[in-house]
Amino acid sequence: MSSDRLRYLEQCRQQFDDLPPEVIVKEDMLRLGVSLGNTWESASNEADNYQKKSYFIFSFDRTPIREMAESENLRAPEEIALIGGPQNFRRTIVSVRLNPTSPYQLNKDESGYLIKLDGEVLCRAKLPPKPSYYGRSLAGGKPITEIAPCIEWGYLIYLTVFRRCQYIGGDQECRFCDINANFDQQRDAGLPYTTVKSVDEILDALEIIAASDHRSQAYTLTGGSVTSTLRGKTEADFYLEYAEAIEKRFPHKWIGKIVVQALPTEDLIKFRDAGIRIYHPNYEVWDKRLFELLCPGKNQYIGRQLWIDRILDAAKVFGPSCVIPNFVAGIEMSRPYGFETVEEAIRSTAEGLDFFMSHGITPRFTTWCPEPLSNLGSQEPAPLEYHLSLLQIYRDTMQRHRLSSPPGYGPPGIGNAIFSVSSFMDVLPPATESLVHSA
Ligand code: SF4
Repeated sequence: MSSDRLRYLEQCRQQFDDLPPEVIVKEDMLRLGVSLGNTWESASNEADNYQKKSYFIFSFDRTPIREMAESENLRAPEEIALIGGPQNFRRTIVSVRLNPTSPYQLNKDESGYLIKLDGEVLCRAKLPPKPSYYGRSLAGGKPITEIAPCIEWGYLIYLTVFRRCQYIGGDQECRFCDINANFDQQRDAGLPYTTVKSVDEILDALEIIAASDHRSQAYTLTGGSVTSTLRGKTEADFYLEYAEAIEKRFPHKWIGKIVVQALPTEDLIKFRDAGIRIYHPNYEVWDKRLFELLCPGKNQYIGRQLWIDRILDAAKVFGPSCVIPNFVAGIEMSRPYGFETVEEAIRSTAEGLDFFMSHGITPRFTTWCPEPLSNLGSQEPAPLEYHLSLLQIYRDTMQRHRLSSPPGYGPPGIGNAIFSVSSFMDVLPPATESLVHSA
């Protein structure tokens, strides 16, 4: 074992021996990103054989596109499956966050892909198979991957129908979020990036997917917040139009999920009646001071207490297990506002998990990737110990409240899970998903 980082991972494996060893690597790759190593030479031959990174909402990169000397953004896979290797990894799916200086490197040899850490082989790797409909275009000429890409190894169709957010600037935008800056960098790079996707474009894309794809089981309807109106509609009415149109054309074909702000009950009833089954009122960070500092727009327009009250109210509309607020795991320790120690950060988020889980509501995580174009800027991610401790707390709090894995995320358990931006599904015991799609 030659590098400090390899020795450190081995220490973590011993310290967190009740976690699957695969998630130690997964969380570290989500924190630090991955470089594309020697895969550049083979990219031209294989460009059509795997699913490429679609930039489905944020950049989720550690490096701006303008600093990618080898146009890594155009050839990166959407996800990587870690498998085999010296520790015989069970298949573990990791979202690709580009960082040309990362110690983690995707490489290629005569047998296929592999992951190296500081030059040492960690495991073999598989790239996501290209969905049958990738490469197709809509009637208006737009690539389907721009309108309806998929993630989670093909499980989830990701419909970012509004690619910007009306929280703008340092006093409104969530400080860890690069949605608006990413929109600008994609446009600057000459890539097609539609500000508002039309209902017809979404339906056209789903028509193609429904006719040709058998892997997708859910869709997420999402985009930035609407503080005033968008196309003459409030946030609820704007997103509702898509939900109604999708569910009318394809009733219950996929598990319908929506990410909107913490809205009043009367709006949520409209989403439920339209056919939406899972609601993500993303809460981001539990600590009151940090919520106010890191989510200034949400704090100003809705406020922390009302956000919490509306999450609890939503459980009466969708059922508690179908209300799943996202936490951006790690921003509790971001500079300059975050906690100084792992212990304080874990204590705080554990309190939030216990609060929601005591009401039958199961939060989920996205592992924080310090995006250089966000307000927080390029900085060190939260320590790996933080992420591993959080996974232990999450698993144990779920068990204490006798909750099963959240619906709409595919199967739980290491080797089965497909959720790629956090390991929370990898650390749960294998079980049957409680809400199966009815197509
Ligand atoms: S509400 Fe916050 S996290 Fe969501 S898109 Fe807007 S700025 Fe980003």
